[in-house]
Formats: sequence, C-alpha cells, structure tokens
Amino acid sequence: MTDSPLHFDTMQVHAGTAPDTATGARQVPIYQSTAFVFKDAEHAARLFNLQEVGYIYSRLTNPTVMALANRITALEGGVGGVCTSSGHAAQIMALYPLMAPGRNIIASTRLYGGTVTQFTQVFKRFGWSTRFVDIDDEAALRAAVDEDTRAIFCESITNPGGHITDIPMVARVANAAGVPLVVDNTSASPYLCRPIELGATLVINSTTKYLTGNGTVTGGAIVDSGKFDWSAHPGKFPSLTEPEPAYHGLRFHETFGPMAYTFHSIAIGLRDLGMTMNPQGAHYTLMGIETLSLRMDKHVKNAMAVARWLEADPRVGEVTYAGLESSPYFARAARICPKGAGAIFTFQIKSGYDGCVRFVNALKLFSHVANLGDARSLVIHPASTTHRQLTEDQQRAAGVAPDYVRLSIGIEDSRDIIADLDQALNG
Ligand SMILES: *Cc1c(COP(=O)(O)O)cnc(C)c1O
Repeated sequence: MTDSPLHFDTMQVHAGTAPDTATGARQVPIYQSTAFVFKDAEHAARLFNLQEVGYIYSRLTNPTVMALANRITALEGGVGGVCTSSGHAAQIMALYPLMAPGRNIIASTRLYGGTVTQFTQVFKRFGWSTRFVDIDDEAALRAAVDEDTRAIFCESITNPGGHITDIPMVARVANAAGVPLVVDNTSASPYLCRPIELGATLVINSTTKYLTGNGTVTGGAIVDSGKFDWSAHPGKFPSLTEPEPAYHGLRFHETFGPMAYTFHSIAIGLRDLGMTMNPQGAHYTLMGIETLSLRMDKHVKNAMAVARWLEADPRVGEVTYAGLESSPYFARAARICPKGAGAIFTFQIKSGYDGCVRFVNALKLFSHVANLGDARSLVIHPASTTHRQLTEDQQRAAGVAPDYVRLSIGIEDSRDIIADLDQALNG
C-alpha cells in the first residue's frame, strides 16, 4: 500500500485489517477467545503496566473487535477508538472520563428518545446532570455553560426529524467553553458526515444502525479526534491528567499524548465498566461496513424520491427531510453532509392521530419497529409508541406531534416503497 491517505470506499473495506499473520486468512478471523497467552512473565508485566500494547483479556481488547475499532476510527478520521456493547454504552463510556458527581453536560433537545431517557434518568443516579438546549441557538448554548460543564452533546443528523446540526457553530461554543464536543453520528454515518473535520472532539456511533446495516447486532463505537488538550485546563479533567491510582500513578495525557483518551477508554473504561463488544458482533459489523457507502447512497437516493413524492401528495402536510429545497435545513445540509441528508425524517398526515394509526397498520413493505438504519424501510408513529407517555406539548417540543410519523427509508426499489406508502395513506 502507498503512504497517501486512502479514499473512503477503500478504507471501508481495508482499514484496520490485514491478512491474518498466523494463517494468512484474508478476512478478519473471529478471535473467539477470552484470554491471550503471555510470552513470559516480563511480557505480562509490561502489558499490565501499559508499557506495551497487546492482548490480555477480551473485556479490554480483542483482535476482531480492535480491527473494527480501527476501521471506524479511520472512517471518522480520528486517532483512536474503542467499540462498546451498544450505542447507549458508547454514550456512557464517552462521558465517563470527563464527568464526576456535580458536573453537567449540555445536550441538544433534538436527540434519540432513548438518549433523552439515559441523560435524564440514569445520569441523575451518577450525580451528573443534563441541560437540554435548542442546538440551533448559539446564545442559549453559550448561556448554558458554567464551571461544572464538561461536554456538549448533539447528533449530526437528528432523530426523528432529520434536522441538521451546525457542528462548526457548536464546536465554536465548546472551544470557547473549554469543553469537548461529542457528536452522535449514528443517523448520518461517517460516510455522510465527518464531525471531526467539522470541529468535534469525540464521535460516537450506534453501530447497530447503518454501520452494520442489516439489523442483526447491537454495538457502539467512540472515536477520539486526538485534538483536545486535556491539560490546558488544570484540574478540569483529572481522569486524563492526574495520577491514576489503579496504574501506579500514571498520568494518561502526559504519557500517551493524543492517545490519552483512547488508552483511558480501554485501560479504565472497558476494564472497569465492562461494556464490551463481543467478537462475533464485531465480525457482523465489519461485514456490514464493507458496503456502507453503497448502501448510504441508495438510502439517500430513496429518501429523496420518497420525500419529494410525499411533499407533492395532498394527503400529506409537512415533510421534514432536509434534502428538500423547502426545508429550512437545506443549505446547512449541503455544508454539513454534502453527500446527502440521510434517510430518516418525519411527515404529517392530514387525517391526524387516527389517520397515522390507520396508516401504520395498513403498511405492508414497511416494518413497524423502534429501530432505524436497517436495509429495510421502517416506520414508527412516535405519539402512539415511543413518546406516548408525553403530553401533546412535550410531543411537539420533541418534534413528534400526534399527526407525524417517522420513516427510516431502506434500500429497496423506491417504486415499491412509494407504492406501499400510497396504498397505506388511503387506509
Ligand atoms: C439507536 C441509537 C442510539 C442508541 O444505540 P443502541 O445501539 O440502540 O444502544 C443512540 N443514538 C442514536 C441516534 C440512535 O439512533
């Protein structure tokens, strides 16, 4: 291979993997082994002291899982990354080195429903808190920062509305506040959006969705840009800058420089929290990623065709797809995700809540599930399912008013997708 950087389509097939040194196997073997034999006691000691990188035990590192982490790191343009058991685990793991009781994060109001629950209910038990702010409102973001803020968190393409976040603007706020910007890139995937190039410090993905692409396994990944200077703010990020008692007083940032966050995520995060991806799951995701760009291009092409068709239909009200010229996010989409505005959006059915329920029941090709980013087209009516506990006002604030349904457009033939929507709108 040459030394010039490889292009995305090449990296999605090759990055992080080489023929197996032991057997020559061309595909990454599934290293279904819990433990790895030390060469001798000295080797074991060096591994345990983090003086040498190698495999000890699969809760921390495993060759198949590492291959996947390295591939996703390459696709996101970071310096290091780790995989986790789910996207939600990636969120906890990403924030864990930054947080402590009493500290807060600032998060977008437009987030995956499960993330809102995690950030409000679970964080409370850790003594962490979340300030939800309109991610388009720069002044409100700045005003929400205080001395206990340790991160800003947003999604690149937001769920459920498919709105586009102005990542460079949010990165400016994060820089001014001296805190990392964490971007959940799940709905875009690294093919459509590259948050690190736009100023993000850390990128997380639920690999459950587009990266695997076929609805088979749950997984997550965290990628570090390596750009944040953890030592620039003394005492602010002690996990990364102060002596670590569990490693004989080692200071991660001083010792590992730009790889500090990644080493901490493995040596402390995975070791102690244990939110580990299994090698079989990593294998499925490695297979999925090989076709990521091909699938995303088709997802986007189909989403565009479906959104245009819906927009022209008299039974339909608003269509929130940012790829439509009528969207207030159209110009921003061209800047943030120039290859396409993803394939998740909501639309309004004029016959209201009951019409939405009839529509969802009448669909045949679409699957009614609480998932997205599958090769199959998926639908959900948030007001009667995921958001049914909320008041109507809360539903509207979350972008899921009672007369809206969310679509995740698959890679089928768009004519069949549209035909199914057409017959179901008569339902
Ligand atoms: C699904 C999803 C998550 C959570 O990922 P899991 O793998 O289900 O834990 C987080 N963020 C977004 C945007 C998602 O779509």
